Amino acid sequence: MDKGIIFIISGPAGSGKGTVVNLLREKMPELGVSVSATTRKPRPGESEGVNYYYISREDFLSRIENDEILEYTEYCGNMYGTLKSEACRILDEGRDIILEIEVEGALQVKKLMPRDTVMIMLLAPTPRELEGRLRGRGTESDDVIEKRLRRAKEEILKASNYDYIVTNETGKSSECADKIKNIIQSEHTKYSRMENFIAKYNADLDEIVQ
Ligand code: 5GP
Repeated sequence: MDKGIIFIISGPAGSGKGTVVNLLREKMPELGVSVSATTRKPRPGESEGVNYYYISREDFLSRIENDEILEYTEYCGNMYGTLKSEACRILDEGRDIILEIEVEGALQVKKLMPRDTVMIMLLAPTPRELEGRLRGRGTESDDVIEKRLRRAKEEILKASNYDYIVTNETGKSSECADKIKNIIQSEHTKYSRMENFIAKYNADLDEIVQ
């Protein structure tokens, strides 16, 4: 069975990751999406097991202790992490997986599985646009928005670690999801991922051409 690829989608708060990932799931239902654990409280409209598993800091720390977490970070005062159980369930089925995670966690995954990880950074077209989207969302206090903007600055400085940078133009989330779909499809046709196919092709050809 072919192995799935881990596609990491990172982007500062306000880059539109959530919307784009939802559209991508509609366009590519075969993709597995890992639901992370977090210590942050659910936002209105979010639900347990769909957006996140909402757990206490104590529970989070004991899961780290018990080696149940693939990667994690502390982001603006809350812990976020990918559960090994989620990631393994999808990868063991040979399916691609989408991890919507921030830069520090992304680098941990890349270090663990460099050949199987593709890193995509999503950005609003301009920083002003990013700020406007964050403030317009109305779900966070000014203080949290400031923290998130500061974190965006740190994340941009790590952009060179990413394989792809994709801008998410306002009102064009579907086009943005298409761009990511193209990346996913192209990654599968890289020679390094087609070696088994080529070997079998060659063997089959040997049966035809003496
Ligand atoms: P939010 O609070 O807006 O849902 O997420 C805040 C940040 O945490 C986003 O950049 C999001 O991508 C990131 N994030 C969500 N889940 C995880 C995770 O499991 N691991 C890491 N490292 N970051 C995550």
